[in-house]
Amino acid sequence: MSELSERFETHDPGAKAQGEKLRCDACPVMCYIAEGRTGACDRYGNFGGRIVRSDPLVILEHVEESGGEVVPFMEGAEESWDGNPVSTAPRTVTAIGAGTTYPDYKPAPFIVSQEVEGVDLVTVVTEGIFSYCGAKVKIDTDRHLGPETATVRAKGEPVGHVTTAEYGSQMLSLGGVRHLTGGSKAEGRITCETLLALCNKEAVELTIDGGSTVIVQAGAAPVIDGAVESRMRVGCGSATIGMFATQWRGLVDEVVVVDDHITGVVSEHQAGKVLGWEDTGIRINGRRSTPGRYFKVAEPGLGWGGTTLTDPLEILGEWNPKKGARPGLSMLMVSTTGEQFAYYELDDELRPVARPFPEKLQKSVDLIEDNCEPALCTVLFMGGAGGSLRAGVTENPVNLTRSVHGLQTYVTCGGAPVYVWPGGGITLMVDVSRLPDNAFGYVPTPALVAPIEFTLRRDDYIALGGYEGAIRSVPDVLEKGGEYYNDRRLAAAGKGQAAPRIPSQRTNGK
Ligand code: SF4
Repeated sequence: MSELSERFETHDPGAKAQGEKLRCDACPVMCYIAEGRTGACDRYGNFGGRIVRSDPLVILEHVEESGGEVVPFMEGAEESWDGNPVSTAPRTVTAIGAGTTYPDYKPAPFIVSQEVEGVDLVTVVTEGIFSYCGAKVKIDTDRHLGPETATVRAKGEPVGHVTTAEYGSQMLSLGGVRHLTGGSKAEGRITCETLLALCNKEAVELTIDGGSTVIVQAGAAPVIDGAVESRMRVGCGSATIGMFATQWRGLVDEVVVVDDHITGVVSEHQAGKVLGWEDTGIRINGRRSTPGRYFKVAEPGLGWGGTTLTDPLEILGEWNPKKGARPGLSMLMVSTTGEQFAYYELDDELRPVARPFPEKLQKSVDLIEDNCEPALCTVLFMGGAGGSLRAGVTENPVNLTRSVHGLQTYVTCGGAPVYVWPGGGITLMVDVSRLPDNAFGYVPTPALVAPIEFTLRRDDYIALGGYEGAIRSVPDVLEKGGEYYNDRRLAAAGKGQAAPRIPSQRTNGK
């Protein structure tokens, strides 16, 4: 990220052509690049007196579909293509390394036809410059990272905010046009750096105003205030009671599952009642929702069940002897991940006193832990591929939008399936972990560059105003490359990653 900062600072878009400098016109920055050097984004360089895309064009081989042995993604793909166009495996020409359609009046860098299951398909391939884009980040933890709408910062600059929490996960919304271009230059630069790193599956440290510092990396466990989060909670406190009430029956008189969302009490909960649990006279200091389910037992935090609690007894009120409280009554308190647990018995004054944890309850606590999933960070790139990018696909851009929403055109990012939002435009989301490494780039406008491919039947493509004269075969692309003279690289598609199919046979996001 620091190198990227440097390039943002040193780049001079107003430079004039000097000597052998060549002008790159692949984005609005229009760098003049000296021989042997690359432009501000490092994606294009001046080599041998011509503008060259510095990364190879990535072509996926769907080895799994041809019955061949599956190799891990990119393994064995370090070498450029050897010139042999013959292959038994279906191939996808991705937009990684393809180059952009900018300026937009020309056809996309690659428009490739290929017969799949007897149908002639066309895939239009371009690297899109996304001014409107961001990342939705899901962090599997019940710990409180910061208040909803709190600003999220990278290197001190605002890059997004905390958004609505999901079941067992905290959510961040990062990037977007207001941070990229609507704030200070530093804010835009750092936002672009942060998005680029996250989308390329690198670790990024984020701080949340009034909350925690968290290290986020797609596919890795979050690190919250220096501690690696290992487990995603099994459910809320009420769900945990529902799942495990039978395990505790006969072993203990009361169970309280402490949770920032819903704290569950087995003797009052419907699951406990069905199983015949007796009243215990327990009182919880919180807002009672339905029987045995309590909201707001404590403030959200990093302690028990995503609360601030380090001592769970703080949520208990006076025990009521008229409703079953008695000396010797036993109680298990446990968090929703099973990481925190304690055992108590009421003394003669009806005060809970901690006792050694009984062996007979250990199995049930272990079961909660076993039912937790590993905590992960998930990063979805989200961007709007509307606007002029479509002009590289068809001379009548709105036809592409209609075709995508009509499921005639199938959209992928670097070969990975995307979810296209309903409504206007082509607003898509993709799980960055499904793309090859370093699939994303940037331009210093600032904006992110993401690969995007549109696949549809050849006849549909012609009908929507496609560039018929620019259609090429996959072997031709492999052999001759494109206008930016870069190498081609074959790589094994990820496991389960299908080759383009007849779009109408696919469903959105699959
Ligand atoms: S920033 Fe990159 S794409 Fe844009 S003009 Fe410079 S080298 Fe070309």
